[in-house]
Amino acid sequence: MTNNDYLALKVPFSEKDQVKKLFAHWDAGKKRWYATNRKYYYKFRNWIPGEIVVTDFIGIIQGVVTCWKCGRQTHVSSPTITALNTIDIEDGGTITDFSGFDVYSFPWETASVIMPQQFVEYGRRTRSIKRVFSKTEGHAYLGNVCEHCTSLQGNFFLYDEPDSPFLYESTTPLVIERVRLGNGDYVLPFNSIDSRISPNTDILSRVSFVESNMVIADY
Ligand SMILES: [Zn+2]
Repeated sequence: MTNNDYLALKVPFSEKDQVKKLFAHWDAGKKRWYATNRKYYYKFRNWIPGEIVVTDFIGIIQGVVTCWKCGRQTHVSSPTITALNTIDIEDGGTITDFSGFDVYSFPWETASVIMPQQFVEYGRRTRSIKRVFSKTEGHAYLGNVCEHCTSLQGNFFLYDEPDSPFLYESTTPLVIERVRLGNGDYVLPFNSIDSRISPNTDILSRVSFVESNMVIADY
């Protein structure tokens, strides 16, 4: 077991003997049960509050777009999980089996609901993102803004247009910063992830990785 082979379980007191039989461990400091072997996480699915377990790190993927407003090149970023570091709790597969993508990116606004706050705050400190009003969507959300003119680079533009750097038709290079999970593996809810597309899509082949100095410990 590595340091990160730790998955917190949600176990009602009346079910403690069931998880004990499956070799769950008791964390006396945090007063909760946890699983220690990723290979067997699926056995605990009744006590895992979500469908996708993210192991080791949460990524921040970065690409470049041309700002629609000022016409200059600006970096855009997005919280990301990959087929290299996810476990589908139903059958032990990865995010590729689940979504069709080997790299799956979330809008920052979605991340602010489903990912550790410490991670989102780190993103706000280090990336060109802000909570701004979107005329297209009619409400404010946390999104990418141009580094030069601060115009919102909208979510529709980044996630739904074929020429977005984060989608499969693009051929531009991408960088993923690996922000380490320092307090065990992390669970994401099913409904935050789109259902499978076909055929499976390869984005990892144009990704290079960099290690972050940041470690997320508060979640
Ligand atoms: Zn601009």
